[in-house]
Amino acid sequence: MMASLLEITGLTRHFEGITAVDGIDLAVQEGELVSVIGPNGAGKSTLFNVISGLDRPDAGGVRLDGVDITGRSPEKLARLGLARTFQHGRVFANLSVLDNVLVGTHARLAAVRPGWRGFGPLGELLLAVVRPGAVRREEAALRSEAEAILARFGDRLVPRLDHPAYSLSYANRRRVELARALALRPRLLMLDEPTAGMNETETTEMEEVIAALKATGLTILLIEHKLDMVMRLSDRVLAMDDGHSIAEGAPATVRDHPAVVEAYLGHPANQRTAVA
Ligand code: ADP
Ligand code: MG
Repeated sequence: MMASLLEITGLTRHFEGITAVDGIDLAVQEGELVSVIGPNGAGKSTLFNVISGLDRPDAGGVRLDGVDITGRSPEKLARLGLARTFQHGRVFANLSVLDNVLVGTHARLAAVRPGWRGFGPLGELLLAVVRPGAVRREEAALRSEAEAILARFGDRLVPRLDHPAYSLSYANRRRVELARALALRPRLLMLDEPTAGMNETETTEMEEVIAALKATGLTILLIEHKLDMVMRLSDRVLAMDDGHSIAEGAPATVRDHPAVVEAYLGHPANQRTAVA
């Protein structure tokens, strides 16, 4: 079998009194889209946090393309090609739409160009003031790259390149966050409820963006409550409840698995999405 792009084994995270993530195993192949579903409190976001370096697991390991990345910082992981978005959305509120995305391209370049960082803050300042031709050309290239990423969202963001993120609608802030993650040119993109709080039209648009990203061959790990969307997008699904894996496999098989039906029925808040 082909080596997995992401491989997690026995991943476990305790908080006082509870085990939020309890011995999760999962392998994601290059180009796959795997969804993680489960009722609120199942441990999905905590699983993302321990994979993406925001939190440390108490046990178990994470490998990215065969390299043990367990407990590495989010910055290091970004350089290795792991990018994520957050359930509650995180953008730089005072930066423009374009600058939010440029931050992503710069984070990527910092990795491949340690020489620049070697000059320290003074070197960065000199480069900013003198702006040799090579720097200007590179900035222009990064700007076109950022604009191309923003164009994935149709006319939602392109007309607002210089609007500060705080002035955007909620849905647009979430789009900007995804655009910034894409600017890292990730090998693995992790999306935590990218359509939470979005209306039907916005949800459909986001599904189309995710489907288009998958079509480029990008590997995606998705947490999503809207099961009809999960069914359409996913190659495989992992269902969690109380920190455990309760089912894993083909989307329809997992949806119809008795333990999954039971988990959703046991959490009335999720019933509506469970029958979708
Ligand atoms: P999900 O994303 O599936 O809704 P979470 O991963 O957010 O679930 O939460 C799983 C469980 O872990 C919940 O019981 C939640 O209250 C608990 N939890 C999450 N983060 C923390 C934390 N930082 N401290 C204590 N408990 C937490
Ligand atoms: Mg969550």
